[in-house]
Amino acid sequence: MSDRILENDLQLPALYLINLNNGKITTSELSVMLRSILNPTDEDLKLNPSRDDDKFSQIVRNLTAKERPFVKNGFIDREEGRNKPLFITKKGKEYLFEKIDILNYLFSNDFGWSDLMASIDKINKADENRREIEIFDENIMIQEGFRKTVESKLYKRSSKLREIAIEHFKYNGDILCKACKFSFNKFYGEIGEGYIEIHHIKPVFKYENDELDKTIEAALSNVVPVCSNCHRMIHRDSRNPLKIDFLIDRIKSNGIFKR
Ligand SMILES: [Zn+2]
Ligand SMILES: [Zn+2]
Repeated sequence: MSDRILENDLQLPALYLINLNNGKITTSELSVMLRSILNPTDEDLKLNPSRDDDKFSQIVRNLTAKERPFVKNGFIDREEGRNKPLFITKKGKEYLFEKIDILNYLFSNDFGWSDLMASIDKINKADENRREIEIFDENIMIQEGFRKTVESKLYKRSSKLREIAIEHFKYNGDILCKACKFSFNKFYGEIGEGYIEIHHIKPVFKYENDELDKTIEAALSNVVPVCSNCHRMIHRDSRNPLKIDFLIDRIKSNGIFKR
């Protein structure tokens, strides 16, 4: 992966963050925030020995420089000079809002660095080939509560899958934690009914012409229903989510908790 490709792949995450920051940000703030949502790993971004900061900061500085594509394509604007604030433009906002569902999905599910970068690359390629890309947010599929609050295109798409997913994961009328078999319903009674968290192994995309059945199949094999404790353990190291089988193995081997 050359620096230049990575630089371009940071445009959408950067627009997302500048917008969250009320449309204005400095390069160093952006660098810190990008790092915290993308979790780049040390191997991917080896320290650059010739400078006192690392490769990631350097790429972000290049990204936001006046003569580079990000400013040139009109998505952001900036004043001349070191660490002057950057602004998202009207064009940048329009571009961002076309993709906002996909980005919310990607940045709210703790995917690792390489999955995030591969996804952004797919989104950019879909753009070049003028193909619309769709994602299913399986959280929406499962969580009944979202129905009342989310009225997006994404929700309508995802809700089609919801019933299939619930049927798929239901066990004796309940969805149990895949790792420890915890049941919110049994433990909390009525107030826990229907609650479960969804761990996503990899982002699932669908191009507009793809078959729905195939995407549903892929989506189902990519999500794992888990309780909140197990979910936090999976993501305890944000750069290295645990594999579900590893966690099951740990739980089994402690001998305290009978699965
Ligand atoms: Zn659990
Ligand atoms: Zn997760």
